[in-house]
Amino acid sequence: MPDADMLGDHAVQMRLAALLRSTANDLKRPDEYADTDLGLPPGTFARLINGTEPITWPVLVAAATAWPVNLRDLLPLQDDTDRDVRIFRAAESAASSRILDRAGRPYYEYRDTVMSRLGSFRPEWIRMLCTVADNEPGNPAVQWNRGHLLYQLTYVVGPVNYYYSWDGTRRCIPMRTGDSVFGLPYAPHSFTSRDADEPAYILALTYGGDLTGDPQRELAVLGEQAAHDLAYHPDGHLLAQQLTSLLHAKLLSPAELADRAGLDPRRVEALLFGKVSPPPTELAQLAAGLRVNVRELMPVTSATTQGISVQFAADARRWRTGGDDAAAYEVTELAGDPLHPHTTAVDVRPLLPEPNDAAWTRTYQHQYVYVLEADGTRMSWDSGGRHQVELQVGDSVYLKPQVPVAFTGNGRLLILRIGGAVRADVRFALGHMASGGQDRYVRDTQLWYSNEGK
Ligand code: FE
Repeated sequence: MPDADMLGDHAVQMRLAALLRSTANDLKRPDEYADTDLGLPPGTFARLINGTEPITWPVLVAAATAWPVNLRDLLPLQDDTDRDVRIFRAAESAASSRILDRAGRPYYEYRDTVMSRLGSFRPEWIRMLCTVADNEPGNPAVQWNRGHLLYQLTYVVGPVNYYYSWDGTRRCIPMRTGDSVFGLPYAPHSFTSRDADEPAYILALTYGGDLTGDPQRELAVLGEQAAHDLAYHPDGHLLAQQLTSLLHAKLLSPAELADRAGLDPRRVEALLFGKVSPPPTELAQLAAGLRVNVRELMPVTSATTQGISVQFAADARRWRTGGDDAAAYEVTELAGDPLHPHTTAVDVRPLLPEPNDAAWTRTYQHQYVYVLEADGTRMSWDSGGRHQVELQVGDSVYLKPQVPVAFTGNGRLLILRIGGAVRADVRFALGHMASGGQDRYVRDTQLWYSNEGK
């Protein structure tokens, strides 16, 4: 059990106080009631919130015992970045080397690259130690894993064979430098080298995205049946599943929906059974009838086949950004999938010697950067002032969302950007808050009303 000393520095204490206050506010507990609930001497809760008394582990345990909240609901994130970034050097990466055996023989060398407590990236540099002489998925030297939860964007360097299994069928794709593949969760896969004399490694950029965190914890409580029932299955009619789910949620009958939407009841029945697909006008009518945005009736589909989406470097789209006369970057698209609209995987060559307006970028996504080639490569970023570092081959960088960053010099970067917990729904909600709401959402240590009255 962590002790009081582990509850963090001043910044963490401030976030703890904000969470404690916002929890007490949600439960409509002014300070004196909070003191009583948590068994604290009168006046203590106010001091915990205003920072004159440290919030300790026993206080959180008392709150999670007295109130209908989980301990994790009271725990803030730990910001492990330095000026909004984390830089992991090639030497640190090499020092994390681990040889992992499969079937009693060395199969992979793993090395960590940058990770942060703020992003769900779990990116590994992996060297293939098993060399094969064919491209047969049934080659007995190939050692398969059982698949894993995390999504995986794999970037290939050298003569690498990629093996994947879907619905019990195993396949092999011979790959070379610059090829990439995106894979769905829990599909077994493996990698080997085709040539022992050439470097053969991958950057296995795994990440949880929307799947880790709260949804997984909620389903762990709801159980397997709920996970099955809640899945929108692509082998069925997706819109019909969404419509049925919304109908149940809103306690509507098909006849009531038909009436609200101004549609023939038989038409609504056909839609609910997935027998027809509605044109845009009908979708708008259904959405209005359900009192939702049309967005809720737009199925999300995947472009993967047999669980993967491959992008060969040879036929990848390539473009320049930042104006024709002084382009800032040459960008090559890597594998991706519409199932993950907020994921961007690109191979980027900086083109400018110094950061100008065209070079500065900013995104709502968490950002992972791995340096594939370096030649005077520098990263500039803004975090309450300009900072700049030189990057070498094998260095990797994590950047928080919204941090302005520019890459200059030459070289080549593998960049993976993923959406965080502030998803589209949350962004819409933030925008619709009453005035001052966004600031209070981030750090509210005030009671939800004034004791003096107003
Ligand atoms: Fe994997």
